[in-house]
Amino acid sequence: MLTLDGSLGEGGGQILRTALGLSLVTGLEFRIEKIRANRQKPGLQRQHLAAVQAAAAIGQAEVEGAEINSQQLAFHPRGVAPGDYAFAVGTAGSATLVFQTILPALMIAAKPSALVLEGGTHNPLAPPYEFLAKAFLPLVNRMGPNVRAKLDRHGFYPAGGGKMRMTIEPVTRLARLDLLDRGKLLGLRATAIIASLPYHVAERELKVLKRELSNHLRHSSPATRPPTLDPQALEVKSHGTGNALVVEVECASLTEVFVSFGELGVKAEVVAGRLAKDVRRFLEAGVAVGKHLADQILLPMALAGGGAFVTFPLSPHALTNIEVLKQFLPIEVRIEAANDLGVRVELTPNP
Ligand code: ATP
Repeated sequence: MLTLDGSLGEGGGQILRTALGLSLVTGLEFRIEKIRANRQKPGLQRQHLAAVQAAAAIGQAEVEGAEINSQQLAFHPRGVAPGDYAFAVGTAGSATLVFQTILPALMIAAKPSALVLEGGTHNPLAPPYEFLAKAFLPLVNRMGPNVRAKLDRHGFYPAGGGKMRMTIEPVTRLARLDLLDRGKLLGLRATAIIASLPYHVAERELKVLKRELSNHLRHSSPATRPPTLDPQALEVKSHGTGNALVVEVECASLTEVFVSFGELGVKAEVVAGRLAKDVRRFLEAGVAVGKHLADQILLPMALAGGGAFVTFPLSPHALTNIEVLKQFLPIEVRIEAANDLGVRVELTPNP
């Protein structure tokens, strides 16, 4: 049985979720101590507990320590059972993170699965639905499986109540994925999502994005037809108020997605300004993969037995994730400077 230290590196919830995902895939049992030791409220919170319960159901696992605030857990999987499941986080805790915990096992399982997931779909510190559907899953699908996502209801922090459906057609073996060059910039699509908020919030956000990004598009691409920014406001129904501003960066080889969230007391212009800065940074750096996609694509690439990508210098989150991957899989990760602003990350099987 593997023993993991939850205070390793960043010491957050990802250590647990990666361990659960890889335990299902490899069949290796594990024990983890000091869960989320470096967080203000250590131990299992609702989202982490929901991830444990979802993994236990999928892996027919025996679990010790699955309680709120628990800082220890033992997980004994008994074989992956693909099929139809419904999981609810119960709060605004991220349902996308619960999904990412069980996806690795289900995308290489013996049969297809269909999932209904309820909870937060638009949380400030987790992958928002659009990131999952338009950036992460298309790359996963390039590795072989066919994973489809549908959003039935937006769930914003703090009310939650979001609902998504996923269908997963698995493959027996994942293909290697290389994301070294994002290719030509084709265009930007900006969506200002609002729930129970005045329409002008969306309009003001889109105005800032147009101002901040259109210039950049004209200058970076002196072609006769430079890429453009396509803006839209989207009013949705949700259990509470909410505002997410999304920019999809469509490139020839992949689409990256950046998101900024409206907060009480923070002006719409500031929310949009933060996002414009993130998008510009990505465009200027010439990397293929942004900070969040980098830490999330590591696990699928490790399962495929190899892959490479060019990204920003890795975050503590990504570096911690690599340490956990290495404990379950015979994988080597090389990180070297790619250009002034980026690094090249290469995963290879460790014989
Ligand atoms: P804690 O660390 O407090 O336990 P947690 O378990 O909710 O919190 P983290 O371990 O910090 O979460 O992991 C959050 C995950 O969400 C990371 O994989 C990160 O890349 C992803 N994420 C956060 N913000 C975004 C975003 N804007 N777009 C895409 N992914 C995001």
